[in-house]
Amino acid sequence: MLRFAPSPTGDMHIGNLRVALFNYISSVQREEPLLIRIEDTDKERNIPGKEKEIFEILALFGIEHQEQQLQSDNLRFHRAMALQLLQDKKAFNCFCSAETLETKREASKEGKIAYRYDGACENLRAEEVIDNPLPFTIRLKKPNHPITVTDIIKGSSTFAPDDIDSFILMRADKYPTYNFACAVDDMLADISLIIRGEDHLSNTPKQMAIHEALGYTKKIEYAHLPIILGNEGKKMSKRDDASSVKWLLEEGFLPEAITNYLILMGNKTPTEIFSLKEAIKWFDLKTISKAPARFDIDKLKFINREHLKGLDPKELSRYVGFADEEIGLLAKIFLEEASTLKELREKIGAIFAPKVVPDEYKEGFDVLRDLTLKAPHFDDYESYKAYLMEHSGLKGKSLFKPLRILIGGAEHGPEMNDLYTHIKNYLKEVAK
Ligand code: GLU
Repeated sequence: MLRFAPSPTGDMHIGNLRVALFNYISSVQREEPLLIRIEDTDKERNIPGKEKEIFEILALFGIEHQEQQLQSDNLRFHRAMALQLLQDKKAFNCFCSAETLETKREASKEGKIAYRYDGACENLRAEEVIDNPLPFTIRLKKPNHPITVTDIIKGSSTFAPDDIDSFILMRADKYPTYNFACAVDDMLADISLIIRGEDHLSNTPKQMAIHEALGYTKKIEYAHLPIILGNEGKKMSKRDDASSVKWLLEEGFLPEAITNYLILMGNKTPTEIFSLKEAIKWFDLKTISKAPARFDIDKLKFINREHLKGLDPKELSRYVGFADEEIGLLAKIFLEEASTLKELREKIGAIFAPKVVPDEYKEGFDVLRDLTLKAPHFDDYESYKAYLMEHSGLKGKSLFKPLRILIGGAEHGPEMNDLYTHIKNYLKEVAK
């Protein structure tokens, strides 16, 4: 089984979506089920409603899963396994107060040495533990050997016992830390491959140490995805609009295009434009670059335009708020200048909206509008144009400028002939 384990603590970031997509693709390729585990153990940071939003986004992107789980439902297992580790002397109770630990951390900082837990509570006698009224955490005894993480993308990295340290499994409030809950849940779910962001690489040896202490020997494969950098080469933060999946959707990027881009970014792919279904045939974690990926919104726009071009006109028409194939075809001719649904909606909206006419064309515009409202139906643009010329006496720029505004909603845009073809059935509405 594979898993995607989002925390319901904020808007879904494109990095999370990329992790979800890669897990989905790999689960289909390996013919293994996919588990969505909502990591809700950090009670203070959970945001109500985010869990529902995560499932909605996954569905919208076609990321199917076979199982789902709330991490907090596994609390009894986290507690039972922590007790087991205490009994086996693989873990110990730590009574150090937050203040004591902070003082020691400060001292290390001043001495310019990396802070490590000093083992103060590791060898307490049984009475010192049992009779101690103070709140306590449970720490794993740091391993007595280095741990090597073999990663499909990053190769191998070895972590010394001191870097793994005697870290906390259970907090004083009897809730597990992320590392402990995650390691126990992955074990219970029989996870075979873990794909997640590289910010978790230093957690992996800790989770492997937990598995080892619990006597779990299944070899899990790992793939840590490089971080995504913004245009300026800095890590994309939650404050960058484009990092939010919701924002990209609101801007009018198609899920198919976002998917395409997230698979293409920092990767070697046989083609530039593809569907998720096609990617499943050739996707290989091994071709993902080790270097950070760079998010380029212009590239995403280009990809979005290509996917918009490929849409069925009826579907495109629905996306821009109509139910007519002709409007879908009209939208397509605007793809020269627009690259998102939002931009297309604006362009098409302007055709149907009351027109803003510069003073110099006002007179001509009014004449053309009145004529158009009274005109019979013309099937082709040339006849319509001839009719306008004959009855208005306008020609050249004084005809075309106001006419373009009248039927195209802007001073510049696609060929009049093309415009007319698609709006001729709406002409009276457009000119009203
Ligand atoms: N809840 C963690 C996150 O969203 C999961 C990391 C993991 O996949 O283990 O970053």
